[in-house]
Amino acid sequence: MIFPQNKKTAPNRNWANGQQPYQLLKSSKFRSQFQKETLDTMRARLTDYLSAHGVELRREASRLKGKCPMHDDKNPSFAVFGSNHEWCGCFPCGFKGDVFAASQWLGRSSNFPMAVRDVATTLGVYVPNSAERHFTLPNTAPQRPIRQPAPPFTLCDADQKKVHDARLAFSTAFDAGAEIIDQIAKSLGFDRETLRLASLGSSGLGLADNWLCYAYPQGLKWRNPVPTAKHRFRWIVGKALAPWRMEWVKPDTHTIYLTEGESDCMALLASGLEDDGSATCVASPGTSFSREWASLFVGKRVVICFDTDPPGRKATANIAGILKGYAAEILAWKGDSSHE
Ligand SMILES: [Zn+2]
Repeated sequence: MIFPQNKKTAPNRNWANGQQPYQLLKSSKFRSQFQKETLDTMRARLTDYLSAHGVELRREASRLKGKCPMHDDKNPSFAVFGSNHEWCGCFPCGFKGDVFAASQWLGRSSNFPMAVRDVATTLGVYVPNSAERHFTLPNTAPQRPIRQPAPPFTLCDADQKKVHDARLAFSTAFDAGAEIIDQIAKSLGFDRETLRLASLGSSGLGLADNWLCYAYPQGLKWRNPVPTAKHRFRWIVGKALAPWRMEWVKPDTHTIYLTEGESDCMALLASGLEDDGSATCVASPGTSFSREWASLFVGKRVVICFDTDPPGRKATANIAGILKGYAAEILAWKGDSSHE
């Protein structure tokens, strides 16, 4: 999903109190911008790349030959060679190189990182963005055949109204500049605009009796913004039949970021992780995660962003086990010990 915002009205991405649960863009742990395996995979698909850009090739001995796309070629003088057909060249043009060099030679890119993006786009290969280089890979699972997608979640009319009213109360309070909004924003470490934007959408935020409400697909959860309050959470309608914001996961969603609780999810939203449309941030209501939710993650790349304290690590291992065989890839947030 694309979060409803544009650059002019985008929230201030600096968290209000200076605390950043996830240090997304600052790490020297990953020196190489692109993974070698990813690059090699793309190199081995040179012929696919060329044919996608209109270069016709025919087999000639161990080589593939075709008319050069870059000069007026009467005889096929462009060739693809190498044990995996990973090299190409044109003698009259004086060009020789791999798929990334070919991208630049064809004028589709002007440097290596651009070439990687161009080739990845052409081939439909996913290249993780820089933020994701901070995750380790505890296990991978073979992808199961895609099952029937889960049916859309619906609230019964009465619950729909409660959610609606709560959200309306939130926007009214927001517009009135109510103190409670600032209190909630402060307790969660967000600026007010982030809260307002997060209240948009079907699984959004609401306000009822001065409690922040999270609308789940079939439930409404109250969160008392006062950290010392006795009852911090209460379900007033239904329960979590799926993680928070799960209905934003679309067939073309590539990566799902799963957080421990809604406020961490909002931290990821505020950091812009959903901005390019390929990722969706969802929240588990705490450290619990139902086995029944596994099918919602079929074929997806899942990044588990739970806390790095012992309960968080335990839950991460548990969820990775549940999702194994469902998710295409499971990654776990490695954590930053300074945050604990
Ligand atoms: Zn040529």
